[in-house]
Amino acid sequence: MAQRARRRAELLKRAASVVVPAQTDVCIVGGGAAGLVAAIHAAEYGAHTVVLERDAECGRTILATGNGRCNFANTSLNPALFNHPEFVEAVCGNSWLADVLSFFESCGLAWEEEEEGRLYPLSRQAASVRNILLTRAQAAGVTLAPARDVRRIRRTADGLDITYCCEFKKPDDAHLHAHSLIIATGGGSTTLLDLGIPEKPATPALCPLACDGPLLTELDGRRVRVRARLERKGCVLLEERGEVLFRAYGLSGIVIFNFSRHARPNDTIVLDLLPGIDDTRASKLGRTTLDGLLDPAISQALLASSGSRERALTQARALTYRVLGPAEGGQAQLTRGGLAVEAFDPTSLQLATDEHIGACGEALDIDGPCGGFNLAWAWKSGMVAGTAAARKVTA
Ligand SMILES: Cc1cc2nc3c(=O)[nH]c(=O)nc-3n(C[C@H](O)[C@H](O)[C@H](O)COP(=O)(O)OP(=O)(O)OC[C@H]3O[C@@H](n4cnc5c(N)ncnc54)[C@H](O)[C@@H]3O)c2cc1C
Repeated sequence: MAQRARRRAELLKRAASVVVPAQTDVCIVGGGAAGLVAAIHAAEYGAHTVVLERDAECGRTILATGNGRCNFANTSLNPALFNHPEFVEAVCGNSWLADVLSFFESCGLAWEEEEEGRLYPLSRQAASVRNILLTRAQAAGVTLAPARDVRRIRRTADGLDITYCCEFKKPDDAHLHAHSLIIATGGGSTTLLDLGIPEKPATPALCPLACDGPLLTELDGRRVRVRARLERKGCVLLEERGEVLFRAYGLSGIVIFNFSRHARPNDTIVLDLLPGIDDTRASKLGRTTLDGLLDPAISQALLASSGSRERALTQARALTYRVLGPAEGGQAQLTRGGLAVEAFDPTSLQLATDEHIGACGEALDIDGPCGGFNLAWAWKSGMVAGTAAARKVTA
């Protein structure tokens, strides 16, 4: 605890030593994944660029990704996997993966592919990704200004007046005048900026789901590979194979995270715990015990609740849960909702009605499945927004 407080004090001291100019070409609000890449692109294009970040350091959100390993992209980037496929396609073009990889290659990152096309830094440390971005931003001359929380933005005749509060110098407000602004605040916090941009309400996504159903308490903490279906009124909405984690409150794991983007209360999740094994083979293999087919803890729980091996096998084929909603306190990886994409020009990610203002990353109403897709969106949308903002001010 004391160590954490010391580290924070150190970061705030470092943040206080950063001099933020009174004016800049491009101001980026939010120094997370998308904001850092936007800043690098704007600065390398020749624009004087400032990043205002409310956290005590930039890029902290990247550190938590992929369980600290940062699944930074996927070899199968496909706009159809996102909620606004046409918009994502128009922003990302047909060399999305190549653009992301050549950017990281030029930053000095080595990476490796794991199952399902997931790309990780070779070091398997999210800090590698974060650090190379900070190094490149600094080399490009970006002013990285952490511990600055942007509170208000006002349009002026020739740009924007940005009011922010310094964590190390409360309660005084400070001001920055920028010719162009990029909103890179991530999920759920854009309303504070009050720019009158239409927004879709924010809800948690890529999160565990609270559910009603059998054996949740008994199986709490067990992971199992399944084929899962998400159903609404008897119709199958989604089907996916992968890992599910039983929790006392419901279900978690990558499959459930993906379902959470679409699930509504009273939808049904059906788990087949014997994927790839047909009924005849399952009955044959399970003649004397189910322990060779299932995690023994699960087979015991199924036997205890159903009373016979046959019924336990039938139950294992279709364990059925009713969705209650996102699990309370379950950390969502994403916010669904955000700035309405219809308000933005996909070629520049600037507002159709005001070229001084752009946005990128999760601040926009874009979300994709688990697997590196959301970071890939953050990087590429940052490139587009940063370059467009700089092109405008340096023209
Ligand atoms: C635990 C976890 C694990 C994840 N793992 C993966 C993964 O492995 N692969 C993947 O593709 N995606 C993953 N994601 C999703 C991914 O992290 C996001 O899609 C991505 O970070 C979005 O980038 P962003 O820059 O838009 O937002 P963020 O990275 O959230 O950055 C936004 C920044 O803006 C700052 N900010 C907000 N408001 C203000 C303000 N008013 N003033 C100043 N600063 C402000 C925030 O402090 C933050 O630093 C994960 C998410 C979580 C939570």
